[in-house]
Amino acid sequence: MAYGAHRSHLVPPHPDLGLARDCEQCLGWGTLVTRDGDHELCHMCQPDPVDGEGTAASGS
Ligand SMILES: [Zn+2]
Repeated sequence: MAYGAHRSHLVPPHPDLGLARDCEQCLGWGTLVTRDGDHELCHMCQPDPVDGEGTAASGS
């Protein structure tokens, strides 16, 4: 078994378990494991990571 060398140690993201609690997609884990074995935030319950300047969400 040879692991891909393009990524060394991938640190799992930190999901909000409060949001993931009732999620049927990730079953409360907040993260999903891809077919490559990588952990990524659940797209169903976890908000997208804010990268620098966040878009001003105008709540109506
Ligand atoms: Zn989820």
